[in-house]
Amino acid sequence: MSAPFAVARLPRLVVGPGRLAELPDVAAAFGRHALLVTGARSFRESAAWDPLIVALEAAGIAWEHLAVSGEPSPELVDGAVAARRADPPDVVIGIGGGSALDAAKAIAGLLRSGTTTLDHLEGVGRGLAYPGPATPFVAVPTTAGTGSEVTKNAVLSGHLPGGGPFKRSFRDEALVARVAILDPDLLAGCPPAVIAGDGMDALTQLLEALTSTGASPFTDAVARAGLAAAAGALPSWHAAALAGAPGVATLTDRAAMSWAACCSGIALANAGLGAVHGIVAALGARLPVPHGTGCGVLLAATTRANLAALAARAPGSPALARYADAGRILARYSALPDEAARDSLVAELQAWTEALGLPRLADFGMTPADLPAVVADSRGSSMRTNPIALTDPEIAAILAECL
Ligand SMILES: [Zn+2]
Repeated sequence: MSAPFAVARLPRLVVGPGRLAELPDVAAAFGRHALLVTGARSFRESAAWDPLIVALEAAGIAWEHLAVSGEPSPELVDGAVAARRADPPDVVIGIGGGSALDAAKAIAGLLRSGTTTLDHLEGVGRGLAYPGPATPFVAVPTTAGTGSEVTKNAVLSGHLPGGGPFKRSFRDEALVARVAILDPDLLAGCPPAVIAGDGMDALTQLLEALTSTGASPFTDAVARAGLAAAAGALPSWHAAALAGAPGVATLTDRAAMSWAACCSGIALANAGLGAVHGIVAALGARLPVPHGTGCGVLLAATTRANLAALAARAPGSPALARYADAGRILARYSALPDEAARDSLVAELQAWTEALGLPRLADFGMTPADLPAVVADSRGSSMRTNPIALTDPEIAAILAECL
């Protein structure tokens, strides 16, 4: 029998090609005044923008638009909230990648609470309980990666007053989107580098949730489903996009990765993550390493280090069998014995890293001199659910291997 567990709140999921067309009806259920939060350019310039605006107006919805470039900061969120407090929208619609969704999620959280990001931001904020209420938030991802459409946290990046950079979460179950629309048509324009980085983020989140000390029968089922979806889809979608294949040729892969990313968000929200996310958080606060790319760069080396540490110090850990399961799923060979499946997992992850053309940490300006500080900062909440406690020299060796 498993240990007791709970399943966190989820949005209503609307899944399938063409389902963006339902957004006006979804939004109208919450009111007549919508704030659309998108990335800087890509969705605004896509073929989907004009029909969406026409449909929103036909549904009697007054809309305003906020474009977010790069990772959202507390200042961006607080500024957007302050500008709208007198006449707040009834619904916030985030359409974009993880940064646009996180910005929309945080803005929706603060429009009616009367508080600011730094009242609640973990680690660097005032530590006040979030009072709510959150404005209804609808999430429409245009990439397949972060899983922000189903999680309760918004990641914000900034600088401490007079201090160093930070990247921290504003987190509350009330922030979870009411509805998430997963329409793979919106992923047709993803450039190969985005497919690679976001896809490796999803893959990392799935593997870390599956092997987390916080895993449950629910997260196991979701993480395995996501890994199976990603196994066939990510390398072939990336290769087709690199070759300039027409969108119709990649629909099956886009749908599979959209679902894999959603599963990764559900799994991480309920099981927690592991060492890759612990190290990436420390890297991202210090160097311009995009989150998903950083995950992809570190995933094979970290998995190898976790397996070696488990074999040496916790040979009875259930995580070893879970890594073997992941190896069988990615290899799509269910008869692979445990030991061979774990070897195959590391080999597959390494092969994907190379096939997807991921860079090395030195490409972001990292040098051996940065190692001690990154190691010291890597022990955040993600690291605490890693299947084995890694030592400082083990973490340093992972980073050195990826330099
Ligand atoms: Zn991630």
